[in-house]
Amino acid sequence: MRVVVDWDGTVTVRDSLVQVIHEFGDPALLAELEPRVGVDLTLHEEIALEFAAITAPLEEVVAWVIEHVEVRPGLHELAAHEPTVISAGFHELIEPVLAREGVELEVFANRVHAGPDGWRVRFRDETACATCGEPCKRGGLAGEPYVYVGDGYSDRCAALAADRVFARDSLATHLDRLGVAYERFGDLGDVVAAL
Ligand SMILES: [Mg+2]
Ligand SMILES: [Zn+2]
Repeated sequence: MRVVVDWDGTVTVRDSLVQVIHEFGDPALLAELEPRVGVDLTLHEEIALEFAAITAPLEEVVAWVIEHVEVRPGLHELAAHEPTVISAGFHELIEPVLAREGVELEVFANRVHAGPDGWRVRFRDETACATCGEPCKRGGLAGEPYVYVGDGYSDRCAALAADRVFARDSLATHLDRLGVAYERFGDLGDVVAAL
């Protein structure tokens, strides 16, 4: 079955968007906006506002990301299953980490234009999802059964449409609350062992 995996906090040990905001952006804005997602902001609106506060050149941020963003053990073994990476983040910050790891995967993600007056996000899909009401990962995955691997808010709706779910962190808490079955994972080796 097709395997679909989130990037930040799932493939990576920590959320690389949050790391980049702490290093180059405005962490106070993150603290203010994050609790409002799903209340009066969509995830896309949050991301657009947080990255508009970043003015560093893309090359500088990419170099920092290559040096600091860690991936979970088991990525190479998972790559043998040819998973699709689906991310609310950016091709520009995901692909250099995959290249560093020597792994080539299909990536569904957004793009950024890093201007000196703030980064502008170009979202892959801005269609509001019929199920959750905001642009989400579910629409891009429709049509074929899949296994979903994720950790956070951006994974909720797509995980509920999956045939099998591997979850950790706030996605696991969310599924617990809904009484939806999933398999808990620590690193990506756990997922590979169970597949
Ligand atoms: Mg995540
Ligand atoms: Zn949705």
